[in-house]
Amino acid sequence: MAEVILKNVTKIYDNGVKAVNSANIEIKDKEFVVLVGPSGCGKSTTLRMIAGLEEISSGELYIDNELMNNVPPKNRNIAMVFQNYALYPHMTVYENMSFGLKLRKFKKSDIDERVKNAAEILGITDLLDRRPKELSGGQRQRVAVGRAIVRKPKVFLFDEPLSNLDAKLRVQMRTEISKLHSTLGVTMIYVTHDQTEAMTMGDRIVIMKDGDILQIDTPLNLYNKPRNRFVAGFIGSPSMNFIKGSITDEVNPRFVASDNKLTLSFPSRLEKAVNGSRGKKVILGIRPEDISIKHNTEPENNVRVSLEVVEPMGNEIFIYFKLCGEQITSRIPADREYQEREEIDLAVNINKVHLFDGITEEAII
Ligand code: ADP
Repeated sequence: MAEVILKNVTKIYDNGVKAVNSANIEIKDKEFVVLVGPSGCGKSTTLRMIAGLEEISSGELYIDNELMNNVPPKNRNIAMVFQNYALYPHMTVYENMSFGLKLRKFKKSDIDERVKNAAEILGITDLLDRRPKELSGGQRQRVAVGRAIVRKPKVFLFDEPLSNLDAKLRVQMRTEISKLHSTLGVTMIYVTHDQTEAMTMGDRIVIMKDGDILQIDTPLNLYNKPRNRFVAGFIGSPSMNFIKGSITDEVNPRFVASDNKLTLSFPSRLEKAVNGSRGKKVILGIRPEDISIKHNTEPENNVRVSLEVVEPMGNEIFIYFKLCGEQITSRIPADREYQEREEIDLAVNINKVHLFDGITEEAII
């Protein structure tokens, strides 16, 4: 069992920087939770407070209902894997993995069993006699994880563990850590600035910005129901497109932008939702897959654009163009070739659009 609860946890550093602002997170036993956000948003600080490496300025941290604020790191039953692995260069893999247990005065036979077991899980049994400099980046990463596993902690904390690896290895290690999570059946809290890592690994994701938590949700909900413009733009690759405009003050309100260069009519289901925004400034959000080649069956919500850049991806094509003064990306099927400066008709899938308040940037639909 390991449930981790943060109640109004705030961190103000000595220099006055408020790195984390009243964070409330409830992490369930065996859950894989990812903290994600741009650099400087307070992810590492949050993780370090959970580990006990950073003092909590105010608020409470509970692990299994026990208040942890003043419990020293070594008594929290937590193991942390760092970005730089922090391996001892003069020790072998075996010694690196067993060092923590030795310090804690574990029996030699117990240590041996734990190290060999962890090495087996991670597929590094052959490397136990090597020193870190004789290992590749991916192997070092596994040793760092192994050192955490041997302690059999209640909670694993990961601080950007894959950022020193090349792209291919990152994808591989991503799957390995996910597998490890199900093999070990433990609570994991993982920090990254990479939204793809967050989306592919997390049971739930905590999105942070400037010390605030903007949304905590499953990957699918974050993608389909972002609470505000920041979350909408942060999750998804290529990013969601945004166009500033307003909702007309008519019986059947429409979205208009750039002096009617783009007008969108809503189905009655959505008309109700936008009623309260009539006459107001809004921001339209469209994912690249929801602005696609027009078929003749779509009499409304079309737009003619001139392609600026065409990027064939093999199975699909990314096209880039200007619309209402904004740079827009769309992904379309690779069923024919497209040329730069070619004019094409696109259709906006109105059932998939997002609308955000023009001032607060909170989601309307
Ligand atoms: P992230 O992990 O999201 O990149 P951090 O938690 O490292 O963000 O940092 C959050 C904020 O706190 C940043 O503005 C950073 O400059 C500041 N900060 C981090 N560590 C310290 C420190 N030891 N002393 C003062 N400010 C710090």
